[in-house]
Amino acid sequence: MNPFLYPAWGSGTTMSRINFNRKRVKLKQLLGIRARLALLALILVAPLMLERARSLEDTRSKQIALASQEFSNLAQHSVDAQREVISSVETVLKSTAYIRATGGGIGRSCDMLRASLPTNLPWIRALLIVDGDGRVQCSTSNVFVGADLSDRPYLKKARESRDFVFSDFLFAKLTDIPVVMAAYPVSAISDEADSVILAAINFDWMSRIMGNLGGRPGITAALVDSVGAVLAAPADQASMIGRTLDGVPLLSAIADKAIGSEKPEGSLSFITADGSKRTVKFVRIPGTQARLIVSIDEAKVSAAINHEIRTAYLLLGFVCLFVLLGALIAAEKLIIQPVEMMAAIARRFGEGDWSVRAARNRLPAEFVPLARAFNAMAAQLGQRERDLVATNDQLTVIASIDMLSGLANRRGFQSRLDFEWMKAQQYDSELSLLMIDVDHFKLFNDTYGHPEGDICLGRLGETLAGIAAQTMGFAGRYGGEEFCLLLPNTSADRALEIGDMVRIAVQNLSMPHVTSCYQTVTVSVGVASTKPNDAQHPRDLVEAADAALYAAKHRGRNAVAEHGFVRLTEGGIALAS
Ligand code: GH3
Ligand code: MG
Ligand code: MG
Repeated sequence: MNPFLYPAWGSGTTMSRINFNRKRVKLKQLLGIRARLALLALILVAPLMLERARSLEDTRSKQIALASQEFSNLAQHSVDAQREVISSVETVLKSTAYIRATGGGIGRSCDMLRASLPTNLPWIRALLIVDGDGRVQCSTSNVFVGADLSDRPYLKKARESRDFVFSDFLFAKLTDIPVVMAAYPVSAISDEADSVILAAINFDWMSRIMGNLGGRPGITAALVDSVGAVLAAPADQASMIGRTLDGVPLLSAIADKAIGSEKPEGSLSFITADGSKRTVKFVRIPGTQARLIVSIDEAKVSAAINHEIRTAYLLLGFVCLFVLLGALIAAEKLIIQPVEMMAAIARRFGEGDWSVRAARNRLPAEFVPLARAFNAMAAQLGQRERDLVATNDQLTVIASIDMLSGLANRRGFQSRLDFEWMKAQQYDSELSLLMIDVDHFKLFNDTYGHPEGDICLGRLGETLAGIAAQTMGFAGRYGGEEFCLLLPNTSADRALEIGDMVRIAVQNLSMPHVTSCYQTVTVSVGVASTKPNDAQHPRDLVEAADAALYAAKHRGRNAVAEHGFVRLTEGGIALAS
């Protein structure tokens, strides 16, 4: 496919690939080892946390149910207590009715009535006997005697039903005290009798019985009569007594339902104007029209439970945080730090420092084999590098040595010359050079053969090495049958002397050379001396010595010549031109 024809296709694919790669890099950075470990810790902890949260929520609903149940029980208990009160009143009224029916005249009945008011039933404030016209004939409390109660519905109802009747809430005509009247017609026992026995019930006691429903936040309790008037309430809600439910906040909404219901008990839930959820339970007190109503504000009841649950959640949060921190610290200590430490060591290795070693005691056990491998590698590579340096040094030495003469070769000589030149320049000292060439060596080879020539060159090398050792000089084979002797810190005169020393030493070797005019192997020596300075170059010294050597040759060989001077000696020291 021609890319020029489809540029958009090609570049689009490349762009999307780059974007994808970038995203992958970002994702990798995000999912660094720390993040991964934190994620792992979370994955491990999450089921526990979820389970804990679930059990907390479970606990919450259980506790709310339990609280609700507890209040139901309390209400039931209260109802039972009220029923006790009612049934005790009923018993007293029945027994009084019996006395009235069988006891003869009203006078006697009254006496017995007064005497029979039981002291262990403090909620009965007064007992009354009402005649057929509805007048109070006698009473345990004199204030009632003579009062006309004929219009009272409970009285009528008792006569009609011939049974125990419990009045609605009312104010006693004479005392203006809130009471509930219980009525029992004597006609229930004896047909002819038309008296009705009444009991005024003291509501303080009823309220006291309800005391166990009071003092709890979110709970409102009230005992109401058939029209919704509050007969009794716990002490802290006593202000409700005497009012109708319509006027009591929170209870007004349920007044109709609670009162209108024919059921002995029931419950309903609703949301109040302020948004709180309320559950209302009502229980009818058997034998009466009265109902106990308990209203529970779920939010308030569950507030304490919620507080507990919140603390548990907070604790859970801390545990999570702790686990996360623990995972991060562990990741840092157990993985990141060791990896960074190993990376730092590897970096040092890269810089050529093989002496550094991983401290195994500072690493987690899992990293010890790696550290050991690192250390072994460092030791091996360090040794290899040392071997290489040594080999290299050897090679350098070998590369600078002439194997035939055992002296430095031209390369070795050259670097030594540079070094000595620098040193002499630094110390402002003299540097001399002898160039030594075997005379008529071509003829020697021709006469004795090349191998013999090599032996000859070897012996000359030994001789020169000896003289170099004596004179603190440096001997080398410059090339072919040409040698050199570098003499640091040596004056021109002394160099001439040494040159002659060389010449004589070679002659004294007495190596036969029949084709030479001297009959033995001889050398010619060129001498040059200088005090090295910036204007000169080591090459100049070599050239000067070479020129002097040429002069020595020119003068008949087996001679020493100094550059710039002509000194004829016995063997012939000549001035190089
Ligand atoms: P002169 O006195 O002028 O120096 O004459 P020469 O014959 O010594 O000089 P020339 O330059 O003509 O010959 C040098 C000879 O040295 C030629 C060569 O065969 C010989 N030669 C150079 N290197 C070696 C070597 O390593 N071994 C042997 N056997 N001979 C060598
Ligand atoms: Mg030569
Ligand atoms: Mg020669």
